[in-house]
This record gives sequence, C-alpha cells and structure tokens, in this order.
Amino acid sequence: MNCFYPFINTPLPYSYDALMPFIDETTMHLHHDRHLQTYIDNLNAVIEANPCLAHYSLEELLTNLRGLPTALQLPVRNQAGGVYNHRFFFDGMERPGQSTPDAELSGALNRQFHDFNTFQSLFKEAALSVFGSGYAWLVLECGRLRITVTPNQDSPLVCGQYPLLNLDVWEHAYYLKHYNLRAAYVDDWFRVVNWNMVSRRFQAGHGRRRGCCEVPFRGMGHMI
Ligand code: MN
Repeated sequence: MNCFYPFINTPLPYSYDALMPFIDETTMHLHHDRHLQTYIDNLNAVIEANPCLAHYSLEELLTNLRGLPTALQLPVRNQAGGVYNHRFFFDGMERPGQSTPDAELSGALNRQFHDFNTFQSLFKEAALSVFGSGYAWLVLECGRLRITVTPNQDSPLVCGQYPLLNLDVWEHAYYLKHYNLRAAYVDDWFRVVNWNMVSRRFQAGHGRRRGCCEVPFRGMGHMI
C-alpha cells in the first residue's frame, strides 16, 4: 500500500460475491465502490488543497501524522485512515476456507493467547466492545501480538503499531445482511479471513520491528 496522490480505487482482489454466503455481494459493492471511493475522493481533495502532503505515501501520511501541520492532522487522520483501513480490511479477506495461519503465526498466536480459539474469543470481544464505529485489530507492538480497537478511521500506524489484521465494525460493513447483529457478523467474517495474507504480514512485520516501538503508544485506541 505504498501508493501516492492521486489515489485511485484499486479493484478488490476477488469478485464481489467471493465472500458469500458470509458477506454479501451488495454490501461489498457499496462498501468498496461507494464508501471507500468517498474516502479516496476526500483524501485527494485534502491533498489537492494542501500540496505539501503530496510527497507522502498513504502509509507515511499516517505514520507521520503527528508531524503534519496541526490543521491537517484531523482530515488526514480521517480520510487517509479511511483509505488505508478499508484496503487493509478488504485485502485481509478471501473466499471461505482457503487458508489457515502458517506455523510461525500459529505459534505466536498460541504463545500470546493460549490457543487459537481463545484468540478468536478475545478478538470477538474486542470487536463487540467498539462503541459506535471503528475497527478491531491484531497488531504487533514491541514484537508482541496485541488485540486492540480504534474508533472511527483511526489507524494503529499512528502510534507505531504494525497491523496484521483488521475488522471493520462500522454498521455499513454488515447491516444489510446481519442487521444489528454484530456478533453474527464477526463469526461470519472469521470464515473469510485470508490467513495467508496475515501470515505474510506477520513475517514482514516481525522481521522489520523486532525491537520496540518506533513511536511511543499515546492512546489513540485502547489496549484490550
Ligand atoms: Mn467500512
């Protein structure tokens, strides 16, 4: 996701109906073609009006957020966060039943959370704990796996965490199929997680940030 202004809405890495029956085709069309497109359009408008931002990649806008001019921090946090978080979310899914965590990720999950079922329960609990709109995340912090949540479109990149997996719990992500039943949506989403992708992210992140946080955690989400 090391891309630059002007941002474009890249296609999903699978067909709109690929996640059925767990996530429906209409939701995927609306979520990708309208919701994500709006964040892209808004982010491009912010950068068009503030050309000083144009040399930052999408990731750099978020990792360097606190170094940006104060007046630009909120729009970048919301719009760049919205683009990054949605792409990360869409890339983290695939057709049902295609993959499982690789040996290294599986070992790390078991060490941190006791076993995979406990990890799933804790992740679900985190997803259900988000009040209003936001995300649940599995991240690397100081070389360790953590489950965390963020409100709105806030990104763990801002506080130096390395994201591995996220779940969008904004109602637009599930309301058409699951109505208000977020718990049922979380269970269904677990059926379409792209564990090959998460394992690759873990390999990359674990090698790159084996030491400690590059930026101290200053609480733009809270730790579970
Ligand atoms: Mn969304």
